[in-house]
Amino acid sequence: MMENNNITPEMEDQMINEAYQNLLNIYLSSNHRKKVEIIDKAFKFAREAHKGIRRRSGEPYIMHPIAVATIVIQEIGLGSTSISAALLHDVVEDTDYTVEDIEAQFGHKIARIVDGLTKISGGIFGDKASLQAENFRKLLLTMNEDIRVVLIKMADRLHNMRTLSSMPPNKQYKIAGETLYVYAPLAHRLGLYAIKTELEDLSFKYNHPAEYQRILSQIIDSEESRNELFARFSAPIRERLDNMGLKYEFNARVKSCYSIWNKMQTKHIPFEEVYDLYAARIVFECEDESAEKRICWNIYNEVTEVYTKHPDRVRDWLTTPKVNKYRALHVTVMGPDGKWVEVQIRSRRMDDTAERGFAAHWKYKIGEGEEEEELSKWLSTITDILKDPEPNAMDFLDTIKLNLFASEIVVFTPKGETITLPTGATVLDLAFALHTDLGTHCIAGKVNHRLRPLSYKIASGDQVEIVTSNIQKPKPEWEKYIVTARGRTRLRAALRHQRRLAIELGEKRFMDFLEEHNIPFSNEVLSLAISRQNASNKEELFHMIGNNEVILNESMVTKKEQSSRFNWLRRNPFKGKDNKDDHKANDKKAKDEGQETGDKGIDMKAVYHLTTRDGKSNYQIASCCHPIPGDDTVGFVTNSNKVVVHKMDCPTLARLKASQGSRLLQTQWEDPGESFQATIRIEGIDQMGILQSIVNIISTNMSINMKHMQVTADQGVFNCDLTVLVRDTTVVTNLCREIKKVKGVNDATRMS
Ligand code: MN
Repeated sequence: MMENNNITPEMEDQMINEAYQNLLNIYLSSNHRKKVEIIDKAFKFAREAHKGIRRRSGEPYIMHPIAVATIVIQEIGLGSTSISAALLHDVVEDTDYTVEDIEAQFGHKIARIVDGLTKISGGIFGDKASLQAENFRKLLLTMNEDIRVVLIKMADRLHNMRTLSSMPPNKQYKIAGETLYVYAPLAHRLGLYAIKTELEDLSFKYNHPAEYQRILSQIIDSEESRNELFARFSAPIRERLDNMGLKYEFNARVKSCYSIWNKMQTKHIPFEEVYDLYAARIVFECEDESAEKRICWNIYNEVTEVYTKHPDRVRDWLTTPKVNKYRALHVTVMGPDGKWVEVQIRSRRMDDTAERGFAAHWKYKIGEGEEEEELSKWLSTITDILKDPEPNAMDFLDTIKLNLFASEIVVFTPKGETITLPTGATVLDLAFALHTDLGTHCIAGKVNHRLRPLSYKIASGDQVEIVTSNIQKPKPEWEKYIVTARGRTRLRAALRHQRRLAIELGEKRFMDFLEEHNIPFSNEVLSLAISRQNASNKEELFHMIGNNEVILNESMVTKKEQSSRFNWLRRNPFKGKDNKDDHKANDKKAKDEGQETGDKGIDMKAVYHLTTRDGKSNYQIASCCHPIPGDDTVGFVTNSNKVVVHKMDCPTLARLKASQGSRLLQTQWEDPGESFQATIRIEGIDQMGILQSIVNIISTNMSINMKHMQVTADQGVFNCDLTVLVRDTTVVTNLCREIKKVKGVNDATRMS
């Protein structure tokens, strides 16, 4: 709401009362027990506490808690405790009231939730990397305590995103980045599809305003023809469903702007070529839960009798629901216009679960035992990760994220049990998922009775048996083969354990050695050995000894000068990199993340044509994504006060955005005048003259300066990486389009 001087206090009061009455009406029409009294009390308390305070948009502050509480009942489906907590969620944070005051007024349960919400307020991420992880950890811990804290936090974030336009642009980037990085995956994991989709779309809207608007208008422009097509597609199916005597809804659901854009980006296709722009969804009413699955398959039969189904695209989420509880039957069929259409078949109950996820069970009052089992399994994985005593802050976030994003495969053990794992999980992941000991001793897997290596990626439906050996030991390089958070955490714990054992062994060997040679132990002897061995401390020295990387020798502990040519104590040349090096590498990586440096290979003169709103001019172009004029960009202020300019959709930036959002700067391109470097990858079938045609287009037809070209032709496949100097993105886009016209060329796209 805009600030408006014509609004009188009376009008404001009326607006607040109306919003609150709307909240109550939604609550009263829900399936919850009617406990209006406590909600009423919470509303009055919060209204009084926030009195006189306004949001940035100018509206009275209390409008925000009311909106959050409305989302909590309307879109998540929670009851009076959560509604009251939502109304009170900012009271402790923003006013003089304490959690004790809340407890005295509203009891223990509501006070605990408000306390949880207060602890994680101010965004998941603070200003420092370690704090971010700490806050995130807090969020997840409270989640384990009371899932309602996270659900209300989700509603809070959703309302903040809906009202983000009143924030300054740099805040918008930070909040939108954080939302996309953490909240949307979290919503997905909790099964809150509608909220997840809206969060993604809103983040997209603030990160790429122009592209968002373009896709939105393309959706609107294509609506009429799409409706016409869907009417033709659905008519024969409707007829059959009517004959079945079903009560149902049959709609076309257009993908969100964000997922359309995602598809365009990953597949390098224009809007018109996104073939699965919409899905057809049949939602049927059914009182008898036990009949739902059968009805789904009956509908499937009818649909596939009208249209030909895609052989590989039937998804049965009825028999094995997704971990976030999603149940439905998906089938893709060939529509009347010769394009594939996905048809989603589900009951009203399944639809509710899909839209509102975990929270839907309140509506149906399902027993808490079985329904929550999967969720608590996931929560225990999170707890596993939280117990990891020394995670690097960013690694920690990535680990969680990995786990949030994962979609699942179902694997069978030899006994026929099913295990759910994220897509891309390997034999080693499965071993660690089953038991840490299986993981640390795993040497291979028998996948459908064939021997496969640790790194083998399991597919859904595979039967896998883990092959172990007593002499097998976990190795640091195994991290490469692991995609699950649990696997990674367990591997690291095993490696630390192994390291401790090696240190103990090394220490014992060292002491025994001294004793054998009648050398009394002293700190001096120890320091001498440490420095002779170039170790950084005694743990490292003992680790080297325990791991047989050094051979104990008298010269190591006596002051006799050793010849520099003659090193008694050398590292075992047959050993690979030891742990110490790995740690250093990790430390370095962590440091680098905060301090990007521009690519020294770029002619810096060419990249200074940017301005920011606050007039800084010390720019570097990020070496990770090489933005050029025309790209959406954001500046990131490094520790040394340089501004590194990234592409808006750069993955490195995504991390920075989420973790250090306060360092973002808005940037815009000035007219460049000079040229920028862009690399284009061309793929195709090798044939006579293909290279000649490409070069002709570049230098003759379009007069573009070529800087570098690398061509390989292997077994008839033609690959070319082409670096050109251009003025802006339009030139690159045109060039790609022209090159694609060359006979034999399959694809030409700009590389980031
Ligand atoms: Mn809030």
